[in-house]
Amino acid sequence: MRGSLKRMRSDNRSMVLDYVVRQGPAARLDIAKALGLSPATITTVVRELVDGGLVEVVDSEQTTGRPRELFGPSASSVHAIGVKLMAHRVVGVRVNYRGEVTGEMEHAYDSRGPRPLDALAEVLTAWTGDRSGLLGVGIGISGIVDARRGRVVGAPRLGWNDLDVAAELSDRLGTRVRIDNDVMALALAHALYGPARQHDHFMILTLGSGLGSAVIAAGAVQRGARGAAGELGHVTVDAGGPECGCGARGCLEAYVSEPALAAEAARAGLATDFEDLLDKAASEPRARALFERAGTRLGRVLQTAVNLVDPAVLIVSGEGVRWWPLVADAVRAELRRAKAGSAGSVPLIPDDLDDRGWARGAAACVLSAPLETTTPHTKERQR
Ligand SMILES: [Zn+2]
Repeated sequence: MRGSLKRMRSDNRSMVLDYVVRQGPAARLDIAKALGLSPATITTVVRELVDGGLVEVVDSEQTTGRPRELFGPSASSVHAIGVKLMAHRVVGVRVNYRGEVTGEMEHAYDSRGPRPLDALAEVLTAWTGDRSGLLGVGIGISGIVDARRGRVVGAPRLGWNDLDVAAELSDRLGTRVRIDNDVMALALAHALYGPARQHDHFMILTLGSGLGSAVIAAGAVQRGARGAAGELGHVTVDAGGPECGCGARGCLEAYVSEPALAAEAARAGLATDFEDLLDKAASEPRARALFERAGTRLGRVLQTAVNLVDPAVLIVSGEGVRWWPLVADAVRAELRRAKAGSAGSVPLIPDDLDDRGWARGAAACVLSAPLETTTPHTKERQR
């Protein structure tokens, strides 16, 4: 009984904290009404949060009686952890509730090792440390992710299929965990903090070891019916082309990605690996031509995508931004072939967010999540 009372109190605290983060600044009475708690409970909970340094008076409001204090979260203590999960590495950032990065972490990891979620929980436990002020952990994962259910449907690069990642990690960490496709998390970071944030409607293209995309429409990341929207890399450009990591042949990613470009260069005896190919492109016309062909293929697919979506801008991101100058002219030439639609005129903006930028997007998945007022524990309270 004592344990469950203690848990209810801590649930009330996290609900109130959540509310002021997402809806604040707010007065005690408004918080009480919104959360269905008594004014006396709110007074106690708010005092505890203020004493703990998590919530502070940020403003006041003159009403008919005496001024009402308006409470907001404290930027120095209320935070989320964002993680970019890769097959051999995890990169994390700590961000305050405004999305400002206040700490960076990195750790070796093996997604194909024994009990990968236990191993990940171990890394994350060290990062989350003292849980006070922690709103949750967001994780960006390359693959198809059912973000609503917190489930990885399929992540070939990690070797994961049908895994209840959010629930399992949340149990182990004792905090909220949200997962999302890494490109969608990056798109969210762009929507909130990037150069395109003044636009309601834009597209993002990611280049690197794969090729991804996302569409932000009316300010929201478009996931599609199955969480599989934006798979631009797996559009077929030549049904008889090279095999792609997805199992199909001739996908765009089988031509326009670092492994694909490196393989093509090796077959032509041009370079030993991708870094070598990049070096050669500075002086060797055949290496430059290889990038230009990739740019033409990419431009043809982008022309269709841009004409379908009509984004205000197209942001180019991912680690492949460093070779964007080698493909940009060919991409633009293909886009300009379109006489109708917006493909010919859409601004292309390269933006080199590194792994920490992706992780910041994962943290944004927690910070921008809708208010969760019905945890199982609050149902218990309402009975
Ligand atoms: Zn494919």
